[in-house]
Amino acid sequence: MTDFGGALKNLSEVKKYKLAIVGVPFDEKSSFRRGAAAGPEAIRRVSTGKCYNPDTELGVDLSEETVLVDLGDVDTSGDMLKTFAGIEDKVGRVVADGAVPIILGGDHSITYPAVKAVAGKFKSLDLLHLDAHPDMYQDLYGDRLSHACPMARILEDGLVKNLVQVGIRATTPEMEAMARKYRVRTITAREYPEKPRLEFKNPLYISLDLDVFDPAYAPGVSHHEPGGLTSRQVLDLIQNLKARIVAFDLVELNPSRDVSEITASLAFKLIKEIAGKIVRP
Ligand code: MN
Ligand code: MN
Repeated sequence: MTDFGGALKNLSEVKKYKLAIVGVPFDEKSSFRRGAAAGPEAIRRVSTGKCYNPDTELGVDLSEETVLVDLGDVDTSGDMLKTFAGIEDKVGRVVADGAVPIILGGDHSITYPAVKAVAGKFKSLDLLHLDAHPDMYQDLYGDRLSHACPMARILEDGLVKNLVQVGIRATTPEMEAMARKYRVRTITAREYPEKPRLEFKNPLYISLDLDVFDPAYAPGVSHHEPGGLTSRQVLDLIQNLKARIVAFDLVELNPSRDVSEITASLAFKLIKEIAGKIVRP
C-alpha cells in the first residue's frame, strides 16, 4: 500500500476524514477475462509519492486541503452476495460519516451495490457513467448481476434521477431502447464534444470504466474497444464538470493486460483530478 502521491493520511491519526479509498478486489462477474480483482492493489502500488506529488492540475494540494484515508478492501472471500452486502455496508458507512467514497474495482458489477449505498443517503442522486459500453443488458448468459448489467439494475430500482452515459461505442438495439425508456442521456464516443461541459443539479455519483479510453491510452482492461476517448478528453470533462460529487468508482483495471503500468497511472491521475474537483467544485 502506498500513499497516493503523499496525500494519504493515517486513519488512526485523523479525527475526521473527507475522502476515503475503498478497494473491491472482485472480478467474479466478469463475462470474459478475469483479472480486475487485482485492480485496487495495482493502483495503490503505482500511486507512490516517490513518483507523484499530491497537487492536481487545477492547483489543489490534496495533502493540505483535504483529508484522504484508505479504508482498505471489502472482504471478497465469501460468496458474491456477501461481497455485495460488504460493499453496501462499507460505502454506506463512508457516506454516513459525511465523506466521499473513492471505490476501486473490481469489475463493473460492484457499481450496483455501491450506488445502492449512496442512494440510501442522497434521495435525489445523478449518475455520470463513462464507459465504452452502456452496461444495460437485462442479463448476460442468464446472469442479471454481470458486469454488463449494473446500469439496468440501477435504472429499474429507481436509484438515480438522471443517468448520463459518455464514451459509448458498443451498444445494442435492446440497450438503446432501454436508454430511451429511462430517458438516459447518451454522449457517444462519435459525438464527443470538443469542449465537454456537463452540469448536474443533484448530488453526483461518477462511475468510470477504464475501457471508456481508447486502448492506446488504457491497455489494461479486459475488453479492448478501439475508437475511445483520450486521457485529455476525459480530464477536460472532469475539470469542467459543474457538480457536487458525492461518490466515485473507478472499475475494470486489469493489471494482467496493462503495459508499463500505463492504465494504473491513468487511474491514479483520474483519482487525483476528481478528488481535486471534490475539494474545490
Ligand atoms: Mn462497464
Ligand atoms: Mn466497459
